[in-house]
Amino acid sequence: MSQQGVIGLIGGMSWESSAEYYRIINQVVRSRLGGLRSARCLMWSFDFGEIEALQHAGRWDDATALMIDAVKRLERGGANFFLICTNTMHRMADQVQSAVHIPLLHIVDPTAERIKAQDIKRIGLLGTAFTMEQEFYKGRLQHRFGLDVLIPEADDRATVHRIIYDELVQGRAEPTSRSAYRAVIARLVERGAEAIILGCTEIMLLVKPEDSPVPLFDTTGIHAEAAVDRALSLVSVTD
Ligand code: GLU
Repeated sequence: MSQQGVIGLIGGMSWESSAEYYRIINQVVRSRLGGLRSARCLMWSFDFGEIEALQHAGRWDDATALMIDAVKRLERGGANFFLICTNTMHRMADQVQSAVHIPLLHIVDPTAERIKAQDIKRIGLLGTAFTMEQEFYKGRLQHRFGLDVLIPEADDRATVHRIIYDELVQGRAEPTSRSAYRAVIARLVERGAEAIILGCTEIMLLVKPEDSPVPLFDTTGIHAEAAVDRALSLVSVTD
């Protein structure tokens, strides 16, 4: 039987999207390898209450320390590489990567590669305020991949952020919020967005391709599938 690498997942941010990662990763392994095959993976799943409190208090150094502790657990457990299963917490991707020897599969990279493969240049970005407003995410899209990134106007950013924390990470997908996202997407398209990045791992629970006149790039699905590509190209260190 062909072997596969062990995927390390830093999850629980929120578990609503980590459950999607787990489901998609296993479905893709089954579709590639057949019948009873499933993924070899380890997940460290945070108590999101603890993480969210640090984020909104701006205590990023404390959050980074927790992320480093998590990745070390995955490395000790035998993961060959790791994923941070949230866009926002890529804010400290460099520090987390430097704390271990196993490589990070950065969520922006497979997303941007797919966008570039479709020859799209100007992309709208939806995510938490941290992801939309700070440089760590937009900067990678712009400087590594040459993409032109549009973010919603301030009121729309506040709406997108509020719906993520008040509803999506708590397992709620409300029709009124779906309409609000549709309107935000429409305004980005009016301003020239050729496609939209769902740059928060829970947005795919609310927004579907039919909610957008332009292609959607769902970071959860893209990241999970890229993890399988990587795992199937590896032989586990534990073999
Ligand atoms: N899962 C979300 C993201 O992809 C938000 C939760 C978090 O802040 O980590 O950004």
